[in-house]
Amino acid sequence: MQKNINCDVAVIGGGIIGAAVAYYVSKSGLDVAVIEQGALAGGTSSRADGNILAIDKDPGFDSQMSMKSQTLVSQLTKELDYEFEYRARGSILVCENEQEMIAARKWVKQQNEAGLPFQMLDRKDIKEESPFLADDLLGGLECPTDSCVNPYLFTYSLLDGAQKYGAKMFTHTKVKNIKKDFSGSFTIDTNNGVIKAKKVVNAAGVWAPILSHMVGVTNIPIKPRKGHIIVAARDEPIGLRKVMEFGYLISKFGGERAVDAETEKNGVALVFEPTESQNFLLGSSREFVGFDTKVNMEIIRCIARRVLRFYPKIGDFNMLRAYTGLRPWTPDHLPIVSSVDEVPGFYIAAGHEGDGISLAAVTGKLMSELIFEKEETIIPTEPLRYNRFTKNNHSESKEFVELNI
Ligand SMILES: Cc1cc2nc3c(=O)[nH]c(=O)nc-3n(C[C@H](O)[C@H](O)[C@H](O)COP(=O)(O)OP(=O)(O)OC[C@H]3O[C@@H](n4cnc5c(N)ncnc54)[C@H](O)[C@@H]3O)c2cc1C
Repeated sequence: MQKNINCDVAVIGGGIIGAAVAYYVSKSGLDVAVIEQGALAGGTSSRADGNILAIDKDPGFDSQMSMKSQTLVSQLTKELDYEFEYRARGSILVCENEQEMIAARKWVKQQNEAGLPFQMLDRKDIKEESPFLADDLLGGLECPTDSCVNPYLFTYSLLDGAQKYGAKMFTHTKVKNIKKDFSGSFTIDTNNGVIKAKKVVNAAGVWAPILSHMVGVTNIPIKPRKGHIIVAARDEPIGLRKVMEFGYLISKFGGERAVDAETEKNGVALVFEPTESQNFLLGSSREFVGFDTKVNMEIIRCIARRVLRFYPKIGDFNMLRAYTGLRPWTPDHLPIVSSVDEVPGFYIAAGHEGDGISLAAVTGKLMSELIFEKEETIIPTEPLRYNRFTKNNHSESKEFVELNI
């Protein structure tokens, strides 16, 4: 690296969130440097599915924010030069018992009241969706605006766009310390030299608390929530769009499900995603096991059993590989996209748990508005403030009360 790099905004983290922030901020005319300790998209963003979903978002602010992001992603397909396998076919949740159908009706009603175009599906609809789905499924629900991307390519595409607006990439460059000097600028020490920036955005995913700690911000409760995915080969034309079991919502928000103890313990719920090349991403699990990213074969078997519960006609499928990733979890399942009062010029864009691909575009746009101190922002800023966890009115974990399961 050259000595004494200077920039307006240093974005720490070259994952999907750092990429979206870099794109929108450099597009707004500022001089941006992206600092990534490994390869671009080398963190959680290359270990995900590629869903841009509203179907699994809490009705209200969460789902509205997702809809804004869906609109931005559709615009990005026209703005960015690199294609990222965008497919807007909608997505569905399937129900395996009457209790889930009741909860699904409630979910659809709440989403409709929030202005989202969700609709119920009956048994006939499920049969038409895919002949491979189990005959005993009662129905489900659909969000027609949901879409899918290749998360790697989406990250690269945004970074390519940022570079065209002048952003510089510093990969294999680990931030070791951040100091704010008397002039208000930041000095960022890395294993590769020093970068000076007027503003810093912490987009370091599960590592964001470590980076915030460097400037004295110690109240960022992001924890890694591990997930497993199986990549299966295209042996049969199983389906063209995203299918999840309704229990996925319950696993995500922390409710109790009517499943065997192993499935419950590992937070396994069916997620089926066809890739552009028609391989299938089969998932997933949810566990808190620190930063351990080893594949656990017990969980792989558990996912495979869940796949066969919903797709019994697949029989054996060929597994190409399996991988894990660490979702940056927050206690209320919303990300932190915020300036930091105690350290003017320091911003956080992290904690997107299982929604970082979905929410990257809206996060990047909002961050550029925060940096420019715009009064009107694409979404309200208060629910995403960094200090909401230290306020007295915060409940540690949002219950899955809305659905009463
Ligand atoms: C199994 C699984 C399935 C998922 N499916 C979906 C999905 O379908 N849809 C969806 O919306 N989301 C999904 N997600 C969630 C999504 O992947 C994450 O929310 C998203 O990738 C987080 O992006 P990020 O940029 O915040 O973090 P990351 O991609 O981890 O990027 C952070 C970067 O910061 C870098 N960094 C850390 N410390 C330093 C340092 N000191 N110096 C320099 N660089 C540093 C890291 O190397 C890393 O590259 C899934 C996640 C998992 C695990």
